[in-house]
Amino acid sequence: MAIAHIGLGANLGERAETIQAAIAAMRAHPAITVQKVSSLYETEPLEYPDQGWFLNGVAEIETSLAPEALLDVLLDIEHSLHRERTIRFGPRTIDLDLLLLDNQTITTGRLQVPHLRLHARAFVLIPLGEIAPDALHPVFQKTAAELYDHLDRPTIVRRFEGALAVL
Ligand code: AMP
Repeated sequence: MAIAHIGLGANLGERAETIQAAIAAMRAHPAITVQKVSSLYETEPLEYPDQGWFLNGVAEIETSLAPEALLDVLLDIEHSLHRERTIRFGPRTIDLDLLLLDNQTITTGRLQVPHLRLHARAFVLIPLGEIAPDALHPVFQKTAAELYDHLDRPTIVRRFEGALAVL
């Protein structure tokens, strides 16, 4: 069994509902146990300031899946949410990232763990630090809080109270 941390993000439509659906899909998978879910945070968009603010969170799961099989499950969940919501309610997006997998470092053609930008993103480091304060980034050997303190110009991340009831 491995412990993985999964980053969740959405910026279109019912963002909290989309993130909740992604967590429900992970819970429904026979090889995944969702152990913790962070608060949700509203976060300033990075690359294109014109788009809406993101909602971000992190889930901690236990899984017997091999790394690329876990990636495939995450991509399947992304696709199913995109497709379903595109047909019924208009476009929605969800991004699922494999942030950490125990203390493994993995580089294949399809997968890099720890996630390449994990250490540079305030919107990942804050929810990750909330549920895994002692987890060390296996390359930098620092906690999420320590990595956050090293950010040059952290983007704005504010707690999203509206999501607490549904999660
Ligand atoms: P994006 O939609 O920009 O998050 O990119 C998704 C693609 O990034 C996937 O198809 C993966 O093959 C690749 N990828 C590489 N490392 C990771 C990771 N740690 N978590 C999620 N996707 C990853």
